[in-house]
Amino acid sequence: MRRFIAIADGFSVALAVALAVVLLFRLAICVPRLDPLAVLLGLTLGFFVADVASGLVHWLCDTYFDPRTPLLGTVFIAPFREHHVDPGALARHGFLERNGNNCLVSVPLLLIGISRLEPDAVTQPADVVAAGLFVAASLTLCVTNQIHAWAHGANTPKPIRVLQRAGILITPERHARHHRGDRAYAVVSGWSNALLDRVLARTEVLLAAFGAKPSGSGAQA
Ligand SMILES: [Zn+2]
Ligand SMILES: [Zn+2]
Repeated sequence: MRRFIAIADGFSVALAVALAVVLLFRLAICVPRLDPLAVLLGLTLGFFVADVASGLVHWLCDTYFDPRTPLLGTVFIAPFREHHVDPGALARHGFLERNGNNCLVSVPLLLIGISRLEPDAVTQPADVVAAGLFVAASLTLCVTNQIHAWAHGANTPKPIRVLQRAGILITPERHARHHRGDRAYAVVSGWSNALLDRVLARTEVLLAAFGAKPSGSGAQA
């Protein structure tokens, strides 16, 4: 099983890197004739959407589902639960193991981003914003777990520490709140945590009313 997961991680990362290269190449061709404000707005929205997505997935996998479920639980749920038992393991994992799952789920978004950057498809400002959104969201989601590892101080390169101090990427101090059991599930920038904290607390109450009981301890690790 471990060998299968390692091969799948390597394939996912290689595929995502190849698609990211195509995406960036198309972006470079399109950008000179696009409205820079619309591009900036789209990229910022996409970066925010990636933060929200990181928080939602993290909350779901920390709180619900069974990590012992064959394949799905082993591959997607167990790593989130293990992270609360041994947060330092994220830094000890190899690059492919750390980023394989995220690259896999980002593939459809990368493909949408590439299709959005067809030379004739981006003509209206709304098209430009949408294209920028998919570009930033797909690329950011590929490296979400890497950003999370840097929030644990894992061999953080100096440029990343600069981005953390600028508030663009989540800092170890802000992510530590999650490991103290105080929600804060988003791990990209953390910009959405204030909103997600409130929405997810209410969602848990609503789901409990329909019989959905948490299987994990959420952030209470
Ligand atoms: Zn963490
Ligand atoms: Zn967690």
